[in-house]
Amino acid sequence: MKVLILGSGGREHALAWAVKRSERVSEVVCAPGNGGIAAIARCLPVDLKSVDAMVQLAEAERPGMVIVGPEVPLSLGIVDALEERGLRVFGPTRAAAMLETSKSFAKRFMQRHNIPTARYVVCHGTAEVEKAIEFFHPPIVVKADGLHAGKGVIICESRAIAVEAARGLFSGALLGETEQQVILEECLIGDEISFLCLSDGKHVVPLVPAQDHKRIGEGDTGPNTGGMGVYSTDAMLDAGMTEWILHHIAQPTIQGMAEEETPFKGVLYCGLMMTPRGPEVLEFNTRFGDPETQAILVRLESDLVHALEACIDGTLADTELRWSPGASACVVASSAGYPGSYKTGLPIIGLAEAAHVPGVEVFHAGSSLVDGRILTAGGRVLGVTAVGDSLKEALARAYQAMEEIRFDGMYYRRDIGHRALKK
Ligand code: AMP
Repeated sequence: MKVLILGSGGREHALAWAVKRSERVSEVVCAPGNGGIAAIARCLPVDLKSVDAMVQLAEAERPGMVIVGPEVPLSLGIVDALEERGLRVFGPTRAAAMLETSKSFAKRFMQRHNIPTARYVVCHGTAEVEKAIEFFHPPIVVKADGLHAGKGVIICESRAIAVEAARGLFSGALLGETEQQVILEECLIGDEISFLCLSDGKHVVPLVPAQDHKRIGEGDTGPNTGGMGVYSTDAMLDAGMTEWILHHIAQPTIQGMAEEETPFKGVLYCGLMMTPRGPEVLEFNTRFGDPETQAILVRLESDLVHALEACIDGTLADTELRWSPGASACVVASSAGYPGSYKTGLPIIGLAEAAHVPGVEVFHAGSSLVDGRILTAGGRVLGVTAVGDSLKEALARAYQAMEEIRFDGMYYRRDIGHRALKK
């Protein structure tokens, strides 16, 4: 079977790598892909903001399955458009993707279905914010309703700052686009865990948990990024807690979406805060996380394609996933200046040497292949990922491989997994 993957980051490289290992797969096509993906898949250019362009490409290729990586094509209804043309697609419809594309939808949905989440109010203007703010104690979380690649959340130390933040979201001063709805939320305290599961619209199968590091600086300092590293271990969640999350969060979400006639098929990513009251949902994403996917898929022993097909076919109840015990870690190498402005087109060396470190896979996030050379092409450039019997071993392997790699201005955090190692 030919598989088409839409996207161009480290997540898509990890997906292509896992898909390629399946006996069921004869060819992997990735659009647009990147310099690293080009080594294992045929890469074709496409505009991920154009449903027409993606449909045209899929119709020309006629793959046996399409996997949608990023959220923007989902928000534009790519799954609906491809399914209308008889293609088999892994990912939620536009209506089901609202769990990610509209935070007000997600919050109200959780309230309707008794899914634990922070207390909140949805406001439609600054006057409503000024009224509602009295009921919140700082710190207060102010969120834009729509998709903003992680930039739409502001944690405010006072009511006055929160009102100003909301004003900035409504006026467009903060994000460049005006918001119709702003959410005020109680600030939750605890450890964050990414709990991803597959769903066929009815059933849920969990993936191994992961923990991301969003800040650019060591010790979790500095501005937020798309993710500077992630790890996954068995010890992050015990069997009882996994059961609780499945029973009180993942399954009610899938059941609620089915009851509301927007069945959810694809990956449900539950961003959880492990609060003293128990796990609560910070956000839903409706696709594989990046870089969580890199650390999760290197631990997967089962055939990914078989599981994704079960999601499409509604047969996930019969599917069990096998995982390698122990741990994995992914350390992201970024360009100097990221998450602000940065240079691209810089040669990357040492990739072959890095790949020789046992247990290591180097996934490319922002690279291009030009005249046989791999060049930087993004803020996050590489995700050096390793498995190990322990988190310590996985991290040691990832950092050993990282030391082989060089590009001008390369930066990476040296403290990925620090919280787990301290415990
Ligand atoms: P979101 O896009 O809603 O996941 O928010 C991005 C990040 O903001 C999360 O990963 C958390 O670190 C933080 N965040 C969001 N909501 C809250 C909350 N209610 N309390 C504390 N932190 C939050």
